[in-house]
Amino acid sequence: MVDLTLDEDKTEKIKCMNCNTEIIKYYHEEYKGYRGKCLICKIDFPLD
Ligand SMILES: [Zn+2]
Repeated sequence: MVDLTLDEDKTEKIKCMNCNTEIIKYYHEEYKGYRGKCLICKIDFPLD
């Protein structure tokens, strides 16, 4: 299966470097920037 029509969905799929699970991206108000969080490992890291 080949999927070449990914242009509409440009949301970055970032994977956890630890468990390779797709992380969630959220805006951290105190940090004033985007951060990623892995729900499996519970790790949290900056994305900027
Ligand atoms: Zn993880």
